[in-house]
Amino acid sequence: MSIAQNITSIKSHLPEHVKLLAVSKFQSEADILEAYYAGQRIFAENKVQELAAKYENLPKDIQWHFIGHLQSNKVKFIAPFVHTIHAVDSLDLLEKINKEAEKYQRKIPCLFEIHIAQEETKYGFSANEIIHLCKSTNFKNFSNIQICGLMGMATYTDNTEQIRSEFKKLNNLFRYLKTDFFSENSYFVELSMGMSSDFQTAVEEGSTMVRIGTSIFGER
Ligand SMILES: *Cc1c(COP(=O)(O)O)cnc(C)c1O
Repeated sequence: MSIAQNITSIKSHLPEHVKLLAVSKFQSEADILEAYYAGQRIFAENKVQELAAKYENLPKDIQWHFIGHLQSNKVKFIAPFVHTIHAVDSLDLLEKINKEAEKYQRKIPCLFEIHIAQEETKYGFSANEIIHLCKSTNFKNFSNIQICGLMGMATYTDNTEQIRSEFKKLNNLFRYLKTDFFSENSYFVELSMGMSSDFQTAVEEGSTMVRIGTSIFGER
């Protein structure tokens, strides 16, 4: 199937309120444009340099999401234009994003990355760490950031029940944080979870943003 057909097919499985992010890392600008001409406007990248180059060369009405591990010293390269930063995994990084966003007089939407998988290698806060951070930090001081919710990646496994329980945990944490710390923050509404292999489970467990690469563009 073509890129356009893949997008149509995935969208037919998504409820109206769930946003489809086309993960375009390693994909050529020609392939991204094919998705664009099929109506796709939200794309996601995980490398700063690659994102900055694609932003320069591609249509300006694309919403670019950053979904990779972000180093503080690279925030400045994407701060002027990035739509949402998904994987905030430290207070230092949040401070840096706030500072860079201030230079451009904008507010950057951010999600906290939560470690829900069993794999050791994945970044993100544990549930305890994020609760501690929320208790100890006044996010109102970050006037150039909108904290919009949580992001997570499930374990890479065929065990659907394990994946489901990890997404459930993330959603429970999301609702707990919303009630206890973000009840006055009308932006705290996003749960970024689900990739090509597990997005249907993620949607069933409350995802509002799915990040899909392979099922749109093919194997990388
Ligand atoms: C690459 C990537 C995806 C997309 O993965 P696919 O399996 O190709 O859909 C989603 N989220 C993150 C954080 C990624 O790095």
